[in-house]
Amino acid sequence: ESVMAGENYEDDMDAKQKSQDLAEKTALEELQEVRRSLPIYAYREQLLKAVEEHQVLVIVGDTGSGKTTQIPQYLHEAGYTKRGKVGCTQPRRVAAMSVAARVAQEMGVKLGHEVGYSIRFEDCTSDKTVLKYMTDGMLLRELLGEPDLASYSVVIVDEAHERTLSTDILFGLVKDIARFRPDLKLLISSATMDAEKFSDYFDTAPIFSFPGRRYPVEINYTSAPEADYMDAAIVTILTIHVREPLGDILVFFTGQEEIETAEEILKHRIRGLGTKIRELIICPIYANLPSELQAKIFEPTPEGARKVVLATNIAETSLTIDGIKYVVDPGFSKMKSYNPRTGMESLLITPISKASATQRAGRAGRTSAGKCYRLYTAFNYNNDLEENTVPEVQRTNLASVVLALKSLGIHDLINFDFMDPPPAEALVKALELLFALGALNKLGELTKAGRRMAEFPLDPMLSKMIVVSDKYKCSDEIISIAAMLSIGGSIFYRPKDKQVHADNARMNFHTGNVGDHIALLKVYSSWKETNYSTQWCYENYIQVRSMKRARDIRDQLEGLLERVEIEISSNLNELDSVRKSIVAGFFPHTAKLQKNGSYRTVKHPQTVHIHPNSGLAQVLPRWVVYHELVLTSKEYMRQVTELKPEWLIELAPHYYQHKDVEDAASKKMPKGAGKAAI
Ligand code: ADP
Ligand code: MG
Repeated sequence: ESVMAGENYEDDMDAKQKSQDLAEKTALEELQEVRRSLPIYAYREQLLKAVEEHQVLVIVGDTGSGKTTQIPQYLHEAGYTKRGKVGCTQPRRVAAMSVAARVAQEMGVKLGHEVGYSIRFEDCTSDKTVLKYMTDGMLLRELLGEPDLASYSVVIVDEAHERTLSTDILFGLVKDIARFRPDLKLLISSATMDAEKFSDYFDTAPIFSFPGRRYPVEINYTSAPEADYMDAAIVTILTIHVREPLGDILVFFTGQEEIETAEEILKHRIRGLGTKIRELIICPIYANLPSELQAKIFEPTPEGARKVVLATNIAETSLTIDGIKYVVDPGFSKMKSYNPRTGMESLLITPISKASATQRAGRAGRTSAGKCYRLYTAFNYNNDLEENTVPEVQRTNLASVVLALKSLGIHDLINFDFMDPPPAEALVKALELLFALGALNKLGELTKAGRRMAEFPLDPMLSKMIVVSDKYKCSDEIISIAAMLSIGGSIFYRPKDKQVHADNARMNFHTGNVGDHIALLKVYSSWKETNYSTQWCYENYIQVRSMKRARDIRDQLEGLLERVEIEISSNLNELDSVRKSIVAGFFPHTAKLQKNGSYRTVKHPQTVHIHPNSGLAQVLPRWVVYHELVLTSKEYMRQVTELKPEWLIELAPHYYQHKDVEDAASKKMPKGAGKAAI
């Protein structure tokens, strides 16, 4: 009997397995059908033929037509992966992850096996991986270890129209590699029509362009400028939801904070509308959104409900969400801006370009006719918006890429083959900074410290801070701080109804006015002491996910320390060694208190303020070093620590002279000033 039962049981299992296999097969078959329905599918053979015949090809096709998900698969199916990997670069992390997940699904394989992705601090690939999605920055780093990209048979520089710094640098490097590696195929793929420029740059490479599917999009402008685009966006979303036929809404915001605010307001307002209104599903999407939640935006909207996707620029061309019928475009994005004269970099909320506005509107017309609500006037659009976004290479600090190029042995930067060259001033500034950081010698050659710094996938100032921590015997503390500074998202959680509790919890880490960097260190060490407890995070209003990310980053930095032969050493009793290491990396970011409570940056005087979230916002130390500047209502320094002015001379003698740090002025200090820990 027991045998019988066993057999029955096995039969049962067998049947179950079979039906599961069948279900998977049909799901896979369905996905194949979806693949065949994409606009690019009709051009599959032609495209493969063009790739076969030409070494370099520029590909142009509308967003959502299948370039990113299909081309690598076509190449795989045609056998290119037998000779090496197919690499496909994306300007954005989320896009690399999400697209890789989709392609793995379409191929019926586990993510990280045949299809994988690689982004900074996260490598989801294996020996099996043949289709590799990665950020453009990661391919740049890979070049440091594999200058001829020998393990690749095809490199696709995707979303080329975005013209990120890394993409532009990659252009110059892969163009060169293609010359001495005739077996390497190079595809430059773009969603916009300025393909001629790419073609010209790549020695008149042929352009393969194919039509997408576009439905008409009705463009609406506001009649008068909006004073508050957040408010206008919310009102527009709700009006669409109440008045317009079903169809999902896509709204463009500038960043995570804005998206979270919008989500909160929307939820509140929806509750106020009562139960007669149909369901509105709110889906945020931004760079630091955890991957479980990223998948949510792609889930089909349930019958009778409406989805509103609150997105950053990521949804402009990198990600296509099916079913969008309405686009709300406030007309702004967060952009890095850089002043090559002062060497100061800042994140700015800036009006988008006409090209961006067109792309955004296009998102509404992919599956049917749609509507786009621009929260600015037609006059505004016609007269104030630039035609195109300025390529990042012309508005950013170049120190990081200059260091990378130097480690690749490229010395003549002025003659580097830039598609659009950066201002010469910016190159000179980058060289000066790297010299001051000790990464380059007087001849512009990489030093030992520079070579070590280049190993870290970080801004040179952060890398310097880490390399120097060896000398001050506090590498253990410094990599925790570096990891915490590299998370990207916010660490503290501040729910609207518990702001006082949250602020108190946060201030606990600032006891003794130790400064924000040390406070971050305290957060990390306290969490570690609890054995990485989630409960502890809840109790202290700290984002668990951010902390886990910090731990991952820290682990990797620890591995890199070993690579550059720096021992892990701890010097917690000497917090000044930690502070000195910070200053040794960030000395260009220093500011001095003014009589009115504002600050003036030391080298190229500019008025700045301590960010209200800083633990030192009420303390106002006389001299501070800051991590970054953000411009909102004012130019704010974020993550601030007090320093002793004499350190500047000691740690950055090439950069500061005694006259820079004389403390004679500012005798009359505001109340409460200068009471920090030092
Ligand atoms: P392109 O690169 O030309 O803009 P994509 O290859 O990114 O186009 O997109 C092709 C199709 O694949 C789109 O319909 C898009 O919605 C779908 N798609 C892409 N990523 C995902 C995903 N993670 N989940 C579901 N569908 C996706
Ligand atoms: Mg794409």
